[in-house]
Amino acid sequence: MANELILIVEDNPNNLKLVRDSLQVKGYQTIAAETGEEGVRLAHERQPALILMDIQLPGISGVEALHQLRADPVTRPTPIIAITASVMTQDRKRIMDAGFDGFQGKPISVKQLLATVREILDKPSAQP
Ligand code: MN
Repeated sequence: MANELILIVEDNPNNLKLVRDSLQVKGYQTIAAETGEEGVRLAHERQPALILMDIQLPGISGVEALHQLRADPVTRPTPIIAITASVMTQDRKRIMDAGFDGFQGKPISVKQLLATVREILDKPSAQP
């Protein structure tokens, strides 16, 4: 049922493991990238159903990766959830204004993350 492919872009190994394990337990397939550049490339090649995007990354930021993904017709419709340590309201607004489809704060709440993932995957616009 929950077997969609999800791309995780995250440079912190502990966060990556937490997110990947949580998704896999629920039946999702996952692929991962440690940089925005690799994430953009993998998203184009594998066309995941959803992308979880860390904001602070080595190389290009998660926001720049989002812009590149939106500029590519292949990945333009893919929903992207931002994962960020910032809890500031204005930062959250800035991230959503950049064009992300959802927001997950750090420390990561697995329950909240899984709910957000399911909610966005179930939106009619996310269907192929
Ligand atoms: Mn990071």
